[in-house]
Amino acid sequence: MEPQTPTSRRVLVAKPRGYCAGVDRAVVAVEKALEQYGAPIYVRKQIVHNTHVVKTLEARGAIFVEETEEVPEGEIVVFSAHGVSPAVHDEAKQRSLRTIDATCPLVTKVHNEAKRFAAQDYDILLIGHEGHEEVEGTSGEAPDHIQLVDGLDSVGKVQVKDPSKLVWLSQTTLSVDETTETVARLKERFPTLIDPPSDDICYATQNRQVAVKEIAAESDLVIVVGSENSSNSKRLVEVAKDYGARASYLVDNATFIRDEWLDGVATVGVTSGASVPEELVDEVLARLAEHGFGDVEEVQPVEERMRFSLPHELRKDLRAS
Ligand code: SF4
Repeated sequence: MEPQTPTSRRVLVAKPRGYCAGVDRAVVAVEKALEQYGAPIYVRKQIVHNTHVVKTLEARGAIFVEETEEVPEGEIVVFSAHGVSPAVHDEAKQRSLRTIDATCPLVTKVHNEAKRFAAQDYDILLIGHEGHEEVEGTSGEAPDHIQLVDGLDSVGKVQVKDPSKLVWLSQTTLSVDETTETVARLKERFPTLIDPPSDDICYATQNRQVAVKEIAAESDLVIVVGSENSSNSKRLVEVAKDYGARASYLVDNATFIRDEWLDGVATVGVTSGASVPEELVDEVLARLAEHGFGDVEEVQPVEERMRFSLPHELRKDLRAS
């Protein structure tokens, strides 16, 4: 039997959603660098994990590279919001590159924690996803002291020198609930494991998860706008399913929405990852409106006001001009 189209269809939009302070700072840093120094401006890795943002900056003259060795000597390179290891800074120096470091200050905070604990000869268990740029950058601060814990299955494989000197840190964009579970398992094995001095999962990741939980409970379907390589966006899909949505999908933009997802659906929840510009959410809302989802309500369980100033190398030149 064909699913009935509900007579009343509504959208719940989570707030906070979209750009966090670290992403905003990184994107504006590339835009300002293009204005200040002219194209091309090289950017190591995707400045933030969003296809639309990368394409827009490319159109304005940014050139995205995987490694600093691809940047011609003496040129300007911007490091992405996810952070880089000290080895990358060294390489850039050797190639006489002018660097603008757009690493999010909250990622830098985790780097500093890693350096401090490594200097005290702690073993550091870094909870995060293998291959993620942020994890590579943080691990590079103290490769001899850091072990990656990627998921519950890897808890059993952890080897430590001295359990009385053991701390866990984490990637900034993880699921809060999953990380709590991983830490509990680690503590069953190592009761002396100590917690980081403050939360490593950043305010933006936490707030977006709090907001999606709120809408998921009332939604048949939750659409998360974000790119496939965006860790925090993917976590929002998982959290939405865990908190009551019958289905949840990650879409890069409105064209990814399939009509059949909306069959029999009365309430659609919408949110977006921390690297997603608001215009992509607007397009999703417009697409939903075409299907009768005209009643849109914003649900905001938390306020967010964080702002970060631009990287100091850039601020200096902007002031002088
Ligand atoms: Fe910074 Fe968090 Fe945004 Fe990452 S998600 S850039 S850590 S504020």
